[in-house]
Amino acid sequence: MQSTLFDDDTPTPGPMPWEEAAARDVVVADVALDRPLDDAFSYVVPDGLRDDLQAGQRVRVPFGRGDKTAVGFAVAVRPWTAADRDPRKLKSVAAVVDPEPLVDGPMLGLTKWIAEYYLCGWGQVLTSVVPAGVKSQAGTRLYKFVAIADDGRKALEIGSLRPKQQAVLSLLAGRDEPWRADKLAASAECGSGVILNLEKKGLVEAVRLRDDNLTFKEGPAEPHTAVELTDEQRAALDAILRAIRGDPAEAIPGRQPGDASDSPGNSSDRGNERLTALPDIRGLTPPGSPTSRTILLHGVTGSGKTEVYIRAIEEVVSYGRQAIVLVPEISLTPQTIRRFRSRFKGVAVLHSHLTDAERHHQWRRIARGEIQVVVGARSAVFAPTPRLGLIVIDEEHETSFKQDTTPRYHAREVAERRAAAAAVPLILGSATPTLESWRRAATGRYRLVSMPSRVDDLPMPPVTIVDVRNDPQIKKGHAIGRVLESTMRTALGDDGQVILFLNVRGHSPAVWCPACGASLKCLDCDITLTWHKDLRLNLCHSCGVESEVPRSCPECGHTGLKFVGIGTQKLEAEVRAKFAGVPLARMDSDAMKKPGSHDEVLSAFRSGDLKILLGTQMIAKGLDFPNVTLVGVVDADTTLRQPDLRASERTFQLIAQVAGRTGRSRRGGRVLVQSSSPAEPAIRLTRDHDYVTFARGELADREVQAAPPFRHVARLVIRGPDEAAVRRHAVAVTDLFRDAAKSLASKEGPAHAVRVLGPAPCPITRLKGLWRFHAQLSAADPADIGRLWRATRERAAPPKPLEMVLDVDAVSMR
Ligand code: ADP
Ligand code: ZN
Repeated sequence: MQSTLFDDDTPTPGPMPWEEAAARDVVVADVALDRPLDDAFSYVVPDGLRDDLQAGQRVRVPFGRGDKTAVGFAVAVRPWTAADRDPRKLKSVAAVVDPEPLVDGPMLGLTKWIAEYYLCGWGQVLTSVVPAGVKSQAGTRLYKFVAIADDGRKALEIGSLRPKQQAVLSLLAGRDEPWRADKLAASAECGSGVILNLEKKGLVEAVRLRDDNLTFKEGPAEPHTAVELTDEQRAALDAILRAIRGDPAEAIPGRQPGDASDSPGNSSDRGNERLTALPDIRGLTPPGSPTSRTILLHGVTGSGKTEVYIRAIEEVVSYGRQAIVLVPEISLTPQTIRRFRSRFKGVAVLHSHLTDAERHHQWRRIARGEIQVVVGARSAVFAPTPRLGLIVIDEEHETSFKQDTTPRYHAREVAERRAAAAAVPLILGSATPTLESWRRAATGRYRLVSMPSRVDDLPMPPVTIVDVRNDPQIKKGHAIGRVLESTMRTALGDDGQVILFLNVRGHSPAVWCPACGASLKCLDCDITLTWHKDLRLNLCHSCGVESEVPRSCPECGHTGLKFVGIGTQKLEAEVRAKFAGVPLARMDSDAMKKPGSHDEVLSAFRSGDLKILLGTQMIAKGLDFPNVTLVGVVDADTTLRQPDLRASERTFQLIAQVAGRTGRSRRGGRVLVQSSSPAEPAIRLTRDHDYVTFARGELADREVQAAPPFRHVARLVIRGPDEAAVRRHAVAVTDLFRDAAKSLASKEGPAHAVRVLGPAPCPITRLKGLWRFHAQLSAADPADIGRLWRATRERAAPPKPLEMVLDVDAVSMR
């Protein structure tokens, strides 16, 4: 209570005992606002709102100068305590927004952890975690529901009513729940006036409730033929089942339950009960109690990982629990969905094309426990399953699991905390795990389970790396070299199918002036424009702006502009010319704009109507076609050339993934990789599908560079419309962080040193009209980055219109 002496203009003496007694009856709500603020603010809950408000609901509160209204989440509703301000000085909650909590206690704990780890506001996290359609109750309307009143029952007994009234009341009397008035009228074959009259006489009672008219199409389920697990699958499943059943022999050594590093939000993670205090987040160190375990399922392409997930899910479903399966958005194909629908009764699919109403409806079905399995992209990690039993993340290495807007969370990290808090396992599956996960498996934080062979004793496809530096065709500017062309002819001649992978969309990735050497760039971004021949336009792949191709070079006036480089559109033209009459399709985000087109092309390929499928990443993942006997990687070097710490890792991953699309039947298959840098480990080691050797070498390099996964890197981006101002502020900010890091290290010890690197212009120096500079904060313990950020950010805050963004554990450095 001391603080009130200083907070206020008119000092007031401390409260008298009787005032304390009165204050004890005061109920306070802690409210997290949708702003980058660390703290929740306390408000008094007026008597009239007490019964309507629980933690997890949104409230309207006065905030800031002039008491403007702001909407925030009540994160706790609790009695006033002596640690609070004098209740007379607290502002009051103005209104309750939601009829029911949107998030439960465990979700409050999880979102609090996200705010602390990713260094953003708790309210910002909550706002983004609950879909807009849920907040607005999209797809529902207020309907009048009626129930029979006591007088109505009496009237019914006496039997003095008119036939229509009698009919309505007897229908109502046979039901425990209120009946929607319009539906009741239809059942009783009467008009709404009859019910209105009964209401006026007090024979029925009206309540207003929400209802929706959505019926949800489940989609077709495929009949499922049972398979016998391979020995490797069985061993993997057994390890997972032990984790599910909580076999203590599986405890991760070295950690005790109730350890400070146990799990976030211990006090709040126990079921759905009303919160009485702020969740207690103890430390940001990894969880690892005997009941929480993460299994890294390293299984080569075609080893049958999905079957293992499904069996594990069947187990938790048999306990009446739910599973969440996260897959990359592009893997949310009808094929994947059918696979789950053929095995489980209630499957909810959360993808980005749902309308608000559909998303709201799915959310409610999940919350009511009607769903057994939630399959979705990144944000499905927040699905409100009432009794979570298991989380699976397939293709764990995909960068799309990191969100690139606030809150910049990684679904794997969030899933780990959520699973730990619910004391359920998390399975991470991949043929090419991230080095972060690989290292955690090595240090014992994850349990490694390997499936090194394909099902059915199928061999891995042989991979040939073709050095194209001296290929005569490639020198002429073709995409397809001599060897790849002849191998394609052989494969097609044997009635096999071919997949060609090129990770560049459009026709030509540059428009170039041979006279002055300039290439055309987007006016708003530092990005060379891509020529899209189908549109006859240049496109910026960063901001999407389209422009006409100028007749002459804007720099020097020369009129012979050239289209250089090869994208999928040009590849398609070349293949059509070289393989006249062979049916083919191109699959990239330009060609697949129409809903359903993706599925259409895949079924045509499956049926054999199409012989060649060419495209970007879209064809690199998950496809399982037995007749594909050749996969060609047209240019293995595209990702390798990117200025990114993880360029090698991504290159290896992509080639391994696309190589996995062949050799999936007795017909066998082979892979041809065209490269100009065949000696690079990321390319060379794909020949033997040798992830383990690749990971070992790459980890050694990263350790020398003191890079992730050995350190945590937070990326600081300063952006704004004026280059000089951005540069100046970036330098000043970096200096501030450097000084603060020094003083923190001298206070806390060298183990807590945060290295500050930069500033430098971002690889994309200009994006959507904003200049961009970045710096890096790197530390062994992410908590030190947090400490540094909190100690510095206010002083470092840029003047408008500059912006400063922090991305903890950034995966994109562009
Ligand atoms: P991954 O995800 O590991 O690349 P998938 O889960 O796609 O592999 O499985 C590859 C193929 O093998 C699928 O067609 C799947 O139905 C099949 N399959 C999985 N397990 C078995 C098994 N035990 N016996 C036979 N076929 C299997
Ligand atoms: Zn642009």
